Amino acid sequence: MPDLSLGDDLRAFVDASPSPSHAVAELARRLRAAGFTELAEADAWGPAPGAEHFVVRHGSLIAFRVGSAPLAGAGMRLVGAHTDSPTFKVRPRSDVRQAGYRLVGVEPYGGGLWHTWLDRELTVAGRLVLRGGRQVLVRLPGAPLRLPSLAIHLDRGVREGLTLDPQRHLVPVWSGELDTEPGLTEAVADAAGVAVEDVVGHDLVLADTQPAGTTGADGTWVAAPRLDNLASCHAGGTALVAAAAGERTQVLVCNDHEEVGSGSMSGARGSFLEDVVRRLVAVTDPADAQALPRTLARSRLVSADMAHAVHPTRYDRHEPAHQPRLGGGPVLKVNANQAYATDAASGGWFSERCAEADVPVQHFVTRADLPCGSTIGPLTATRLGLPTVDIGAPMLAMHSCRELASALDVPLVVDALTACYTG
Ligand SMILES: [Zn+2]
Repeated sequence: MPDLSLGDDLRAFVDASPSPSHAVAELARRLRAAGFTELAEADAWGPAPGAEHFVVRHGSLIAFRVGSAPLAGAGMRLVGAHTDSPTFKVRPRSDVRQAGYRLVGVEPYGGGLWHTWLDRELTVAGRLVLRGGRQVLVRLPGAPLRLPSLAIHLDRGVREGLTLDPQRHLVPVWSGELDTEPGLTEAVADAAGVAVEDVVGHDLVLADTQPAGTTGADGTWVAAPRLDNLASCHAGGTALVAAAAGERTQVLVCNDHEEVGSGSMSGARGSFLEDVVRRLVAVTDPADAQALPRTLARSRLVSADMAHAVHPTRYDRHEPAHQPRLGGGPVLKVNANQAYATDAASGGWFSERCAEADVPVQHFVTRADLPCGSTIGPLTATRLGLPTVDIGAPMLAMHSCRELASALDVPLVVDALTACYTG
């Protein structure tokens, strides 16, 4: 029987992370347990060789273990992932009333398969900002929200294809009795243990409440929400904790806002990673004006995001010679048009690290007649000039409310990333 303990740990990580803010808090909890301590961006830093720290910027987190050698001389090994997933964000004025119901106004976030959110037990989770700037995490208990399908008897045309207008049709229902129940805002404040008048802002998203489970005849598949890309945050964090310290500085960067283009102060187009690297370089190489480009030239970034496993009935959507399978190990993603940052050198380097770790490597390219998705890899490579490889665990149903991956791939990806941190 294969060891499924890391798959079980992934399920626990996903269940603890219904929003990017929760994912960052769970990563922080695990890093603290492993000896890492938090640094504030507003403080001055002077981390010594061997120091283990993490920094949080909203829904993003960067963790690092400072190497024994100055950065300009040894470079860095980085793993990148993203904390966000397609969902719906609660609107500032969310109290919607119609047809004798109370509903919650939401806005789609990212490119979800929205029909998969119908008829599921949903809640909201995220962060509240209180008067004075204090922030608290909140998750409403139970499953108070729902997006009910329309009965087929009232929509015979659905056989030709379901059409969902996000403004009119994707509005979750909260209660049936007007004014007898507290509204969402009151319930969220109550769940957080704060007064509703103290809440001055919120970042709240819808989340599916069914715990991550296992499926498949041998129980090795993981059915869960948000595997894209919490599975890579989990693997990167696990690998960083497991990696032996060395002369190179080791970095984990988990960015928010990948699903909406990464253009934010905490997204991969923003300055977060560059700011942290500049500060580390200023500590390890204070007299070298060329330390930053020297460091980047000696570094490698593994951009870890989920990959498309070949579909059991829609296998024609894959390039025939490139059909990754669940449980077959990490997938090296290549795209001639640079939707992935992998090139011969970075891909070759990753394949060598996998060979050292005895991890098989699969390959993905998109069909020539289909467009290709992208990741934080090309964005970070473009911004920083960082040699980058795009990889990820194979999965099915990407961007569904309930995605599917294999627990067998979790230790393989962790081993590959651990080898990249030390190789
Ligand atoms: Zn992704």
